[in-house]
Order: sequence, then structure tokens, then C-alpha cells
Amino acid sequence: MQIQTFVFNHFGQNTYLAIDEQTKECAVIDPGCFFDEEKQKLISYIQTNKYILTKIVFTHCHLDHAFGARSIANAFPNIGIYAHKNESVFIDDAINQSLRFGITMEQPPKITNYVSDGDIVEIGSHKFVAIHVPGHSPGSICYYNAEYKVIFCGDVLFAGSIGRSDLPGGNHDQLIEGITKKLLILPDDVTVYSGHGPTTSILVERDTNPYF
Ligand SMILES: [Zn+2]
Ligand SMILES: [Zn+2]
Repeated sequence: MQIQTFVFNHFGQNTYLAIDEQTKECAVIDPGCFFDEEKQKLISYIQTNKYILTKIVFTHCHLDHAFGARSIANAFPNIGIYAHKNESVFIDDAINQSLRFGITMEQPPKITNYVSDGDIVEIGSHKFVAIHVPGHSPGSICYYNAEYKVIFCGDVLFAGSIGRSDLPGGNHDQLIEGITKKLLILPDDVTVYSGHGPTTSILVERDTNPYF
């Protein structure tokens, strides 16, 4: 598996491309590309490498993770849109939300595949287990691949911090409990790919994150 990281938009969000080099299939995880050059950069990267984009996979659907979803869906028709059903509200309200920030964005595409806790999401031959960890947003999903020991966790867990829980549907206690019971039990050497900031590991967060 190859993972390509792009840092996009006003919020310094990490958009990831997870790639199966054998089959060339890939998925965009949280398309946060906002500016035209950011959208073009991501689209060109996929096309130039002749990757086959099969899906957009959302850890959650806050604006900064969804800005570029429409552009990607337009550039690659018929891809699947994967997210927890509790995130639909953010997709439906995206344009209103963006206007509150003084930003205009395109309406993100509807979720085509609801992801629930324990589901398997495939990116090429790579299998990711969906781990539902609400508290930052009600439908936050972390995607864990045990073979390569990687987890995409959106805004649930950061290097040295955790996601904010003061946004609609947030719940601090739920977030702490979810991370403790579902993420920090993973093997030490799992690499954590967060929605913002650098990568970290389960060991480092278990040992040094001030929230635990
Ligand atoms: Zn978020
Ligand atoms: Zn975010």
C-alpha cells in the first residue's frame, strides 16, 4: 500500500490517497481540496499515475474534509461515496455551513454507501475495518488496515491531542471512551494518519497524549 498525503485548504487538512500499487486502485480519504489548484493537483496526481479511483471514503463530513468532494466526483464519475449515515446531515447542510464561514463551496455528492462499525471497506486488495468513534462528530469512522498497520482516524485523534467536541453532535466523554476502548488497544506500531498535523503511532499517543 502506498499512502500519499496532501495538505489542503484554510484549515490545513490532510487529504490522503490510499493506493494499491498492484491493481492501481485507489481511494481518496477526505477530499479537502478547496482552491482550484488544489483540486487540479489531486486530480492530476491520480490521472498522471494512471490510478483507478474507486471511491471517496469519509472519516467524517465536516466542511474541511468535504470541500473537494464534488470536483472529485465530477472528474471520476460513478465512484462510491462512503461515510457513516450520521454524517449525512453535514453533507446536506454543507453549503449553508460554508456560507457561515464566508466560503462558497460546491454541494458535495450524496453518500452512496453507509459505513457502520465493523464493516470492511476495500481499497483495491487492501481491507480496512471501520471503527466507529463518535464524539468529534456523530459519525466519525476510523479505517484500520491490520496488515500494513495503518489507521486513518480523521479528527478523532491527533499527535498529542484529540478532536474538539464542541461542534454539533460532539461529546467529549464519548470521544475519550471511544479512543481508549477502540483505538489505544491497537498494536503499538500502528501508524496513525490524522485529519490535521503529522502522523503518529498508537504507542506514542498511549504513552504521551495528555488526554489519556
Ligand atoms: Zn472535523
Ligand atoms: Zn478537520
